[in-house]
Amino acid sequence: MGREDLHGAFNSHLQRELYAAYLYLSMAAYFEDANLPGFTAWMKMQAKEEFEHAMKFWGHLYDRGSRVTLLAIEKPPANWTSPLDAVQDALEHERQVTRQIHDLYGRAKDEKDYAAEAFLQSFVVEQVEEERSAASIVDTLKKVGDSPASLLLLDREMGTRGTAA
Ligand code: MG
Repeated sequence: MGREDLHGAFNSHLQRELYAAYLYLSMAAYFEDANLPGFTAWMKMQAKEEFEHAMKFWGHLYDRGSRVTLLAIEKPPANWTSPLDAVQDALEHERQVTRQIHDLYGRAKDEKDYAAEAFLQSFVVEQVEEERSAASIVDTLKKVGDSPASLLLLDREMGTRGTAA
């Protein structure tokens, strides 16, 4: 595999980060519909972060003398059976992104593309945080169970993310 192939894989990954933004935005729409403003805000913020991830790949491609070719973004799911179901999906998606990042990292190493390797390192670390935060919300939602009062309290806490960060 040549460096061009690695850049092609980066270009595909840019599309996956945009899909992640789209998925979180779809979750935001679901939570907005469920009248949970805290979860809605959290998902919207997550969507923005994913867009920023995509733009970092964009930057790296041009920094390296390559270019971006945007690919089609598939339609994300629009409905979930419960907040837990949605956040479990988010966690599963993050695990998938982690595998993709690790795959890219392995390719960069094989290619002895040290600049790509260094670039990807921040994403390896980022994914640990992404998985941890989604897993922690899944865990809390399991404790909330069928209690609407607990769900509303959690929703309020989710809404403080923007102000805390
Ligand atoms: Mg991401």
